[in-house]
Amino acid sequence: MKTNYLILTCSKCSVKNKVPISRIDDAPKCGKCGAAIPVDSLGRPVHVTDHTFDREVFFSTLPVLVDCWAPWCGPCRAIGPILDELAIKYRARLKIVKLNIDENPEIGSRYSISSVPTMLLVKDGQIFDTLVGALPKEQLESQIERVI
Ligand SMILES: [Zn+2]
Repeated sequence: MKTNYLILTCSKCSVKNKVPISRIDDAPKCGKCGAAIPVDSLGRPVHVTDHTFDREVFFSTLPVLVDCWAPWCGPCRAIGPILDELAIKYRARLKIVKLNIDENPEIGSRYSISSVPTMLLVKDGQIFDTLVGALPKEQLESQIERVI
């Protein structure tokens, strides 16, 4: 079943707001304090760590693409701008998360990630698929279409 709303936290009073996806572009306001809810972050990859991974990935109301990367990896750097682009294209439909596996070895070993880039597709709190290697943009898009 498709989720037709997002849970977004008000940056002023920290209340969680349920925002219909169809209203994302209408400058949503917090139901409690009336402050504007920051929706800009929806179009950008979110950087996670071993500590924030579970919360950002498995408690997400949206499907998630996790990019496991490392700073020394050339193909990872090449794929960075593509993910930035896809984050905008799939804004409010897919969350893109980046995990530096050099700095966050726990998650890397939990999922036996032995090469980078490796991408995890997560849907409904479960790993849906694992994509190994730097896929061309078109292939990434068709993989993403499977979960959104
Ligand atoms: Zn508020």
